[in-house]
Order: sequence, then structure tokens, then C-alpha cells
Amino acid sequence: MSKQQTQKPGICYLVGAGPGDPGLLTLRAKECLEMADVVVYDYLCNSEILNHAPQTAERIYAGKKAADHAIAQDQLNSLLVKLSAEGKTVVRLKGGDPFVFGRGGEEAQELHDAGVPFEIVPGISSSIAGPAYAGIPVTHRDHCSQLTIFTGHEDPEKEESVIDYGRIGNVSGTKVMLMGVGQLENVSGKMLEGGANPEMPVALVRWATTGGQQTLIGKLDDISSRAQRAGFKAPAVAVFGDVVNLRPALNWFERRPLFGKRIVVTRTRSQAGALSVRLRNLGADVDELPTIRIEKPDDLEGFGRLVQDAHKYAWIVFTSPNGVDAFFDLFFKLYSDARAIGGVRIAAIGPGTANKVKERHLAVDLLPDEYVAEGLLNKIIEGESIQNEMFLLVRPSEARDVISKGLTEAGAIVDEAIAYKTVAEADDPTGAAGRFEEEGADVITFTSSSTVEHFLEMELPLPENLIIASIGPVTSMALSAAGLDVDIEAKESNIPGLVAAIEAYYEQLR
Ligand code: SAH
Repeated sequence: MSKQQTQKPGICYLVGAGPGDPGLLTLRAKECLEMADVVVYDYLCNSEILNHAPQTAERIYAGKKAADHAIAQDQLNSLLVKLSAEGKTVVRLKGGDPFVFGRGGEEAQELHDAGVPFEIVPGISSSIAGPAYAGIPVTHRDHCSQLTIFTGHEDPEKEESVIDYGRIGNVSGTKVMLMGVGQLENVSGKMLEGGANPEMPVALVRWATTGGQQTLIGKLDDISSRAQRAGFKAPAVAVFGDVVNLRPALNWFERRPLFGKRIVVTRTRSQAGALSVRLRNLGADVDELPTIRIEKPDDLEGFGRLVQDAHKYAWIVFTSPNGVDAFFDLFFKLYSDARAIGGVRIAAIGPGTANKVKERHLAVDLLPDEYVAEGLLNKIIEGESIQNEMFLLVRPSEARDVISKGLTEAGAIVDEAIAYKTVAEADDPTGAAGRFEEEGADVITFTSSSTVEHFLEMELPLPENLIIASIGPVTSMALSAAGLDVDIEAKESNIPGLVAAIEAYYEQLR
């Protein structure tokens, strides 16, 4: 029997990715992505959403920037059928909702015809979320009780337009147009010809729900010329109706402190989230461009032996959150009882590292006032004598030797446990490096000297006026050494400190 015959057919999930804000993904969509063998995604899908798929999942870009179809629709349909029939779990990720002008209906029909199991995961449509993020409720008891969603761009193969824009202009209530920026003159013209009110308020919302959102307001008789003057381009949703007048009061999104600022996060992919979420909460347009990746140390066995003997030490010193994770992941593989750690005391370099220790339900006995190696060393030395005390220093393979040298000089016996190594991140599935090169950014953040070092190795051109933000003095030193001026330095060397410093920087400019 051939392999084909023994194989169970896979499944194709037609999944809505939401309008752009990665937080507007449904829990079901995330579940499907986590199960995916293959993700086939569109131009309008926020690339960060792809991070929910396993690293090993194949990612196929289906394109769709109006003209440049990376894959034609019929080929795409056959691709979905083929991949699913091979037994794979396929996620077809589509912008917004798959059944709202998303051709999800056609893809589902193809799958049905081919006998491939499929499921639909609705998403938040840009037709509703786009206006909402511009402070426009699509329905409102005082203004309208009817909502019409239409397209400004029909199937180009259709000979004659079947959409009667003149009539749509006269329908009461709110009208939302997708795919219509290029057709605005035609559409608004037909609405006016049909007798629609020229004073009807209109809003265009571009790249809605992302940090790059732009909104343009006008009236039915001038929105097209305004859009042309402003060079307003796709993708945008257009909202026609009185609800647009609610925007001045309800425009919550564009008023956030970091709105409109593109900020690059260079931490590892797995750690970027904590920083990205905080920046996004303040309205920033965050681009994750991981420069480094954490890997197992070269001498994993040696590390294992030291972890196994951890209870023999007077102190364990952690110099990074990654070190804590590497240590305890291994520790709890070796021991099933937390008491196996014995009576050791624990020192952490800063609050981020301390929090990781606390997550393992262990207390931190020592935290310096200054969250750098020197601060930690001084705090230990200024306490009781450490003469002949055994220290286990948990550290990355590449690090300054301030702590081990200082402790040894003070008479301690120091063993160094190399817990992990930091290597350059070569993978860029979201295309962040290209975006940085082409579109630049307002701020770039560095959270360790290794992010600086590996960013520089990428040799990306730095846009003019790029603001450089550093998490603390050691990272700043690495930047200065590379000839880069540090514009923002966190007062507290941790993620909340860095975010606060960026916010304060823009606050003071206002
Ligand atoms: N299924 C999608 C719509 C796909 S049609 C949904 O439910 O949202 C593509 C059109 O959607 C674009 O031309 C644009 O009009 C609109 N669109 C999608 N995402 C958008 C966004 N983030 N901002 C503004 N318009 C968007």
C-alpha cells in the first residue's frame, strides 16, 4: 500500500487573523496555529501572529497586495487541498474574518468538493474593528440602527458592476466599504449622483488597529479629493454616516502616549513579548526584530553536574532571567523535590531575575541596589565575610568576569555554571529586518549588550533620527563603544524601567 493510502487526511482550518492588532486574535485561532504543520498566510495578517505556530511549521506566503498575487487563487485552493490531503494540519490564516470579503467561502467550497475536512474560525473583521479603533461605533441607538458592509472593488472579471453605489448612498444607517480607497472617486461620485447627502460624514481608517493607523475625515463630496491630496492609500476601511461625528469624543486609540511611534524590539523571540505588550499598551507600533537566540551551553553535561550539586553551595548567584530558567529546568529534571536545593542562599542581579526565582517558589536573599554585576558584587562583599564560602555562579557563556573575579578576590570559592549561550538569530520569518531597512523606525530598544553586539553584526543601515533606548549602563556602554549615542537610558534596569523611560522621553517632547 502506498503511503498516501495509509495516511489519514489532515484538516484545513480557515482562520481569521483579525484586523492587525495581534491582541485581536481569537483563542481558537491561537489553538489552531499551535497545532499547525503549515500556515498559509496573507498580506493583511500581522506577521507576529505567526509566532503562535510552532517554529517547525512551514510558513507559506500567499500574498495579495491587490496587484501582486504571490499565488493565484485557484493555485491557492489546490495547494490547500493538496497539503491537507497529505495528512497535514493546515492553517489558512486570513486577515479579519475569513467570510467577510475574504474568499473564505470559495476556499471552503473547494475543500468540501475535494472531500478534505475543514473548520472555520471566524475573526474580528476590519469592517467593525477598524472604525472602533478610530473612535467610531458602527451602530449607535441615537444615530443609526442599520449597518451595510460593501466592497469598492468587485471581481475585476465581472463585465458590469452589480453594485449600485447610488442606492447604497441612500440606504439609511452606517455604510462601511472595504477595498475601496482606489475607487473612492467613483464610489462617492455615484452616491452623489444617486442623491446622497453631500454633507454625509466619511472617515477613512488605514492600517486600522495597528500602531501605524491613520485616519482621515471628510464629507461625501470632498473625501475623495482629500484622500488624493493626503496620498491616502490602501488598506483602509471607509465609514459613511453620522456615527463618524462621534469620533472627536471616542477617539481613544490614537490618543495613547506612544501612538504612531514605531519601536523595534531586539530581544529574543521568546522574551520579546513582555516588552512588546507594554509598548503596545501605550499605543506603539512594535516591530520584533530578534537579534539573539538562547541555546544550550556547549558543555551541557558539565552544567548538569553543577546543578546536581547545587545543595553543596552556600550561595547560588543568578545574573539573568535566562540563567534562572536554564538552571531550574534542569534542576527539576534531576530532582522532583524542591528541598533538594538544600539550605543555599540565592542572589539575583535585578528584579527581572529575582521574579524568575520567585516563579519557582523560592525566595531571593540578596538583590543589589544597582542592577549590574558591580552592584551585585558589592552587595555580597559588604555583607558578612565570604572567606572560604562556596559560590555557584550561574551565567551565560559570554559574560564579563566581574563577579567571579571579585568574589574570588574576597576569598570565596567560586564555581561557574555556564547555563546557556547567546547566538545570533538568523531566522526572520516576519520580515522585520526588511521592514526596518525599508521603512525605518522611531526608536530601537536594546536590553543587553549581546542584543547590541548581534544587531551590529546584522549591518542594517540606521535610519536618520533613530532614537536609541538602552535598558541600563552596561548596555549603554556597549552602544557607546560602537559609536552610537544613547538617547534614552532606563533609570531602573528592567523592562518596566525601559518602557517608563521611553514614555517619559516623549512626554517631555510634548
Ligand atoms: N476579511 C477581511 C477583509 C478582506 S478584504 C476582514 O474581515 O477584515 C481586504 C480589505 O479589508 C482591505 O482592502 C481593507 O479595506 C480592509 N482591511 C483589512 N485590514 C485592514 C486594516 N488593518 N485597516 C484598514 N483596512 C483593512
